Formats: sequence, C-alpha cells, structure tokens
Amino acid sequence: PLVLGIETSCDETGVGIVRGDELLANVVASSMDLHARFGGVVPEIAARAHLEAMEPTIERALAEAGVTLGDLDAIAVTAGPGLAGALMVGVGAAKALGVATGLPVHGVNHLVGHVAADALAGGPIDEETIALLVSGGHTSLLHVRDVDADVVTLGETIDDAAGEAFDKVARLLGLGYPGGPSIDAAAVDGDPRAIAFPRGLTAPKDRERHRFDFSFSGLKTAVARHVERTGDAGELRVADVAASFREAVVDVLVTKALDACAHTGVPRLLLGGGVVANARLREVAAERCEAAGVALRVPPLALCTDNGAMIAGLGARLVSRGVAPSAPGFGVESTLDAGIVQVG
Ligand code: ATP
Ligand code: MG
Ligand code: FE
Repeated sequence: PLVLGIETSCDETGVGIVRGDELLANVVASSMDLHARFGGVVPEIAARAHLEAMEPTIERALAEAGVTLGDLDAIAVTAGPGLAGALMVGVGAAKALGVATGLPVHGVNHLVGHVAADALAGGPIDEETIALLVSGGHTSLLHVRDVDADVVTLGETIDDAAGEAFDKVARLLGLGYPGGPSIDAAAVDGDPRAIAFPRGLTAPKDRERHRFDFSFSGLKTAVARHVERTGDAGELRVADVAASFREAVVDVLVTKALDACAHTGVPRLLLGGGVVANARLREVAAERCEAAGVALRVPPLALCTDNGAMIAGLGARLVSRGVAPSAPGFGVESTLDAGIVQVG
C-alpha cells in the first residue's frame, strides 16, 4: 500500500511516503536551531514551528515521491508518545487530510515507528529482535516479538534520556547544542578512562527491579561535581571529561542491551534514535555484539533520527495486515517529558 506518514512528536516535522517497505520520500524540517539558545527543546516553539512547516513539508514529500494525495491508500501519524502540543499539530493535519480525501487515518506509536524504520533499510523486521532506542526524549529497551502487534518494553530511563544527558553535560562543559556532536568533537583527544564516572542502575541491588532500566541523572551530577572541583583548582580537562562521560553512557547502553539479548535468548539487536549518531556507541556495540554472537542492525542515520518515513512504514504494515484505522476522534498520548526546557 501507498502510505503517507506524519511525525511531529518533538522538534522534527517529518513527512514520509512509502509503498510497502519501499521508501519513496523522506522530508524532514527541524526546528533544532530555534531551541539552541535554550539548550533543549522548548515545547511551544516546537509546536509553532510544526504548524508553519507542515504544509510545505507535505508538498515536498508528495513531489519527491512523484505521487498525489489521490494515489494514497492511507495516512499514518504519530499519536504519541511525545510533546502534546507538537503531536496535536501532526494529528490535526492527518485528520484534516483524512476528511478532505476520505482516506483512512492510523494513529501510531512513535517508538514502534523507530523499530519499523529498519524494514525500509532492508532489515529482517519479521524476526524477533531487541531494540535499543536512544534519543533526546527516550531511552528504551524493547523486546519486539512482532513489530505490528507485539512489542514489550523491557526497560526505560527513570530520569534523563541519553541524548538529554549529552545535552545537559555539554552545557556544563560550555560546549554547544546539541550536546551529542559537541561532546563527540571534544572527546577526540580525551582519555575515556581518565575519570571513573558512575554507571547508573548497574549495581547488584538494581538487578531485580531495574535490570533493563537506565538512569543518567547521577552521572550528570557526578560530572557537575567534577567540573566544580577541578574548575576551582584550574585543572579541568574538558577532553577527558567528555571522553569519560561518553564512555559511561555508551558502556551502560550496550551492556544492558546485550543483557536483554541474553535474557530473552534473542541474538539480534536493533539501534534507533538520534544518539545512534554517536560514533563511539556504534563502535562499542559492534565490538561487543560480535563477541556475544549477536547480529547488530543500525539503519542509516536519516532513518534513526525522527522522521515521517518510519511512521509511513509502520502504517503500511498495519494496512497490509487489515488493521482497522483509528477512531475519528483519536487523541494524542503525551508521555515524553524528558529533554524539555520549561519556559518561565
Ligand atoms: P525523540 O526523542 O522524539 O526521538 P529528539 O528530537 O529528542 O526526539 P533525535 O532528533 O532523534 O531526538 O535526537 C536528538 C538527540 O540526539 C539530542 O539529544 C542529541 O544530543 C543526540 N545526539 C545527536 N548526535 C549525537 C552524537 N553524536 N552522540 C550522542 N548524542 C547525539
Ligand atoms: Mg530531534
Ligand atoms: Fe524519536
């Protein structure tokens, strides 16, 4: 089926068009620059930017795919989790298109969309897999038994998301936003073993209740303390702090993901989310997966960061399976509260 997907859960206005698992268009307009001076995504600004970008982004995606609205079989849209105001712009647009064209509209889950992105990159989506989704808004470990119908959350962050931790620590170190790329750059000449930063929720006592959960706020505090102490003494080495911080995040992410593979007996790991841009994460994941006999899938970065194609891809799978569209009055599910700057 030919499906148009709309994504507005955070700061990307994404519109993608797929035919089954074939990617025809993937257009993304980001409001990231508008948030830079706040050091995190400002919900009001994101929602307003979605409203402005929505129509032109839909037009561009249709032109890129060489199709018209009349050719489509269905529309899919992120219904959550995400920022409520941002989600409402996408859901409103999808409903309006649905009314105007008579097409069915599917409200879908953003996280499952990240998993569905793999199929567009030729991935083995019909096999069971463990998925590690890491971005500015989420850090989740999923057991994907069936991407369309059976996804179990094994664990998630109990405080900051991984990307959010990068953004906050970058601010502590006086580096730019977004924090991921600026910490990557600063870490180039650093020693990842210089400072032993804490690995959250990896103590034996955490194994029972938080085996697959993450916590990055203690790490952030440890970095803040270190910066204070060494800064006062004139001994702050930014490169070492950046490298050691990054190593702590990557170590926990990969350790828990592989523990999930071992626990479930599923020898496949899929990565998704903007933090996948981190070179060290990809490197450590590749090394340790190889050693553990786990097949690693990393879709191209354009499909890892938030985008409309992954939502279209998930929608196409639902249509193929004969899943009924969402009820006309479906709403948004707002559970993404991390990585957000409170204004005022
Ligand atoms: P959502 O949480 O809904 O997916 P988001 O906009 O927060 O939305 P993305 O756009 O997928 O997520 O990713 C942005 C995040 O990824 C930022 O927090 C950024 O710091 C982080 N990031 C980007 N590049 C890197 C990198 N090289 N290393 C680590 N983190 C990175
Ligand atoms: Mg983003
Ligand atoms: Fe996302």
